[in-house]
Amino acid sequence: MSELRFDNQTVVVTGAGGGLGKAYALFFASRGANVVVNDLGVSHSGEGKSGKAADVVVEEIRAAGGKAVANYDSVENGEAIIETAIKAFGRIDILLNNAGILRDISFKNMKDSDWDLINTVHTYGAYKCARAAWPHFRKQKYGRVINTASAAGLFGSFGQANYSAAKLGQVGFTETLAKEGAKYNIIANVIAPIAASRMTATVMPPDVLENLKPDWVVPLVATLVHSSNTTETGGIYEVGGGHVAKLRWERAKGALLKTDDSLTPGAIARKWSDVNDFSKPEYPTGPADFMAFLEDGVKMPS
Ligand code: NAD
Repeated sequence: MSELRFDNQTVVVTGAGGGLGKAYALFFASRGANVVVNDLGVSHSGEGKSGKAADVVVEEIRAAGGKAVANYDSVENGEAIIETAIKAFGRIDILLNNAGILRDISFKNMKDSDWDLINTVHTYGAYKCARAAWPHFRKQKYGRVINTASAAGLFGSFGQANYSAAKLGQVGFTETLAKEGAKYNIIANVIAPIAASRMTATVMPPDVLENLKPDWVVPLVATLVHSSNTTETGGIYEVGGGHVAKLRWERAKGALLKTDDSLTPGAIARKWSDVNDFSKPEYPTGPADFMAFLEDGVKMPS
């Protein structure tokens, strides 16, 4: 099998100065892509600012014979990041929304500023970059997007209410981009990665981190954003340490109650086992599935 190539394509990688973003940038450059290495150069909690993080990665790519330019904007300024791609390379084909920070603190002690900053970087930042890339994708009838969620968003995580909210938001955001992009050959998927980086360095033991190289997240991302992928869109993937798995929503059997005065808390209590019965699950993929479910006469109580 020949290796996946990205010649003549432009990849924008946000937060590419370190961790996962750097691994993406180096990989795509090594496979022929033009790479925009975006990084604001902040601390893991979003403090400070420096162009060095992006510059070092650009130098490494160029030294290896690749093509890359740096961009030092915050993802909040998505237009400026995409503009860097257009100015340097004349196009944008792939957007990897990866930049991120943490402001971990128990919910009891969370301040508005902790909530706002996390949502600004992860939610607003991903939106701004995708929004700026979107007209290009539509015009050229080609675009590939990866958004970055987290297990914290999918399942919750102590001390990460802000981050969890923002990260699950990436899932809904991606699902909608996938639906709206389908007509224009715009493919969008979301990953919940796990990798050794400064983000995980303080919360995981060194022997575990050794098995979590960011490089091991890259192959899934490359597969999803390659032009040969024309069907896998709106997917949620867990990836890291050699493990790759798709996730999806699951609906229990449920109960459909008459919508009259008999719909009381007691009526729900009597059907509680059906509400929670996952023995024959369904896998809804959109709001239309819910409407179909309501209209499904077979399930109406007699
Ligand atoms: P990292 O801290 O090594 O890298 C993040 C990069 O983003 C940094 O270089 C930082 O300077 C940059 N950045 C932060 N705010 C920015 C902004 N406003 N604009 C531009 N750049 C900015 O972290 P990482 O572990 O490589 O994380 C990458 C992504 O993966 C993040 O979205 C993170 O939430 C997510 N994630 C990581 C893990 C993991 O196990 N490492 C798990 C789940 C999710």
